Amino acid sequence: MTARTRSAAETEAVGERLAAELGPGDVVLVSGELGAGKTTLIRGAARGLGVTEPVTSPTFTIGHTYSGRVPVSHLDLYRLAELEQEDPALLDDYVTPRSVSFIEWPAAAEPLLERITRRVEIRHAGGDEREIDS
Ligand code: ADP
Ligand code: MG
Repeated sequence: MTARTRSAAETEAVGERLAAELGPGDVVLVSGELGAGKTTLIRGAARGLGVTEPVTSPTFTIGHTYSGRVPVSHLDLYRLAELEQEDPALLDDYVTPRSVSFIEWPAAAEPLLERITRRVEIRHAGGDEREIDS
């Protein structure tokens, strides 16, 4: 499905709708340039999954975990070019059979993931517009 949004709030709403289709063990890869709205969409999805605390971009760690109706993980692997050379167990704290996981800049993780439920791609479409394939 392709959606076109005109604000961060609309992109959050797309995330929230997506969340309604997700459950334990699901892994969602979120791609797009810097500033495309990946974190914004994941924020909406986390809300949809019952997370009430603020959802912010991981900076000093590769990810954050939140508790919603299910455990929710948010990873940003921007700085991890080749995860294979890192500890392969790095993802284990985040991607579990019980949690719903969202991964920004997922390339490094893809070879290690047993299950990929969904791919979301966000593109700039001029000004505040974004095109979202999910
Ligand atoms: P990313 O995680 O892809 O780097 P962020 O979600 O952190 O991007 O940032 C997106 C930025 O773009 C935010 O400042 C947000 O307010 C702004 N923005 C403007 N229009 C939109 C839109 N339609 N969808 C998502 N973000 C938007
Ligand atoms: Mg981000």
